[in-house]
Amino acid sequence: MPNCDAAILDAIRSRSGQASRKEIQQATGLSWGTMCAQINQLLSDGTLLSERLQPAGRGRPVLSLRLNQQARYMVGLDIGASQTKIVICDLAFRVMHQQVLPTPYYQGEKHFFAWLSGRVQDCLQNSGLARDKIRGLCAAVSGNVDSENGVLVSGGNFGISWGADLPLAARLSERCQLPVCSVTTQAAAAWAEYHFGEHAGCGNLVTIGLGVGIGSGVVANHRLLISQPGRPIGYIGHLLMPGNKHICTCGFRGCLEAYSGAHFLRQAARDQLPHRPELHDARALDQAAATGDPDAVEMMNLAASYNAIGIASMVQLYSPDAIVFSGGQSQPQGYVYQQTIQAINGILPVERRSRMKFSLSRLGVIQSALGAARLAYEKFI
Ligand SMILES: [Zn+2]
Repeated sequence: MPNCDAAILDAIRSRSGQASRKEIQQATGLSWGTMCAQINQLLSDGTLLSERLQPAGRGRPVLSLRLNQQARYMVGLDIGASQTKIVICDLAFRVMHQQVLPTPYYQGEKHFFAWLSGRVQDCLQNSGLARDKIRGLCAAVSGNVDSENGVLVSGGNFGISWGADLPLAARLSERCQLPVCSVTTQAAAAWAEYHFGEHAGCGNLVTIGLGVGIGSGVVANHRLLISQPGRPIGYIGHLLMPGNKHICTCGFRGCLEAYSGAHFLRQAARDQLPHRPELHDARALDQAAATGDPDAVEMMNLAASYNAIGIASMVQLYSPDAIVFSGGQSQPQGYVYQQTIQAINGILPVERRSRMKFSLSRLGVIQSALGAARLAYEKFI
């Protein structure tokens, strides 16, 4: 749940950036005393501004509170398997500065933290924003994250093996002099869609990331589901697909991701089509399948059927009203994406399918970084 300040600022933002104390209390449910004390604090540090509005009819002028959008900022970081994104947002969640960089393959803890903190510090400096207004950072990682302790347990898709247990939040916090928390990329993606996406406010929403790995995030009854290592919630990528013989980065044989994920597609193409080096890449396979190449069609149809089984399982588990796709393999005209949608339509009963919206994320590559910025806001603002 958002902290007290975040709840007050959310209430004002939802009324176009201006609200009375009474409206804020109705929206937040805070006690009058607690709310007024917090508002006074926010007024004294310049986060809120007070304005006297003339009433429409007879009566006393109304005191209205307005959000000073540039009073505080938060940083959202998303360490993806191939790219790392950093955004700095203001209190209206406008992106004031962003950077997208390649994620290096893991070469040890010392190198990793030196690289990561260096990039964050560059970004803070390049933004030109006052450091004392930057309130906190949330790091989303494509991997297993112990959110309660801010520990990165693994990031198999960029070389961090299970059990590495990197103290991500503590190390970044110490090097960047900011409060830091951490979640998975997919949890951040779901939270970004819930707050900023096409289906913002949709209380039961699932995000599916079709990329290097196959990921998913879940918002259920307006709450973000957050996994802990050993207590996974809403993971699609490691659902077991009968017939899939590949060993996954998690150690199991036959996970969805261990065929449909871009890394594994490349490996599967090398194994199955050694005489066709031009197809040893997920994007090349997708393009070749679109032109009807029978080898590529066979591989991508299998990937799409696995995707569809995984997504149908998510529908059974969470009954979402909307499913939002993102990631490198979610291209509107892409072969595997189109086939995946077609295969799901073939699995789900028509009545169930007709109540559910499918769409491609409009938030672009910074989707999870935006979700992370929102989580940093809820925790540290
Ligand atoms: Zn797995």
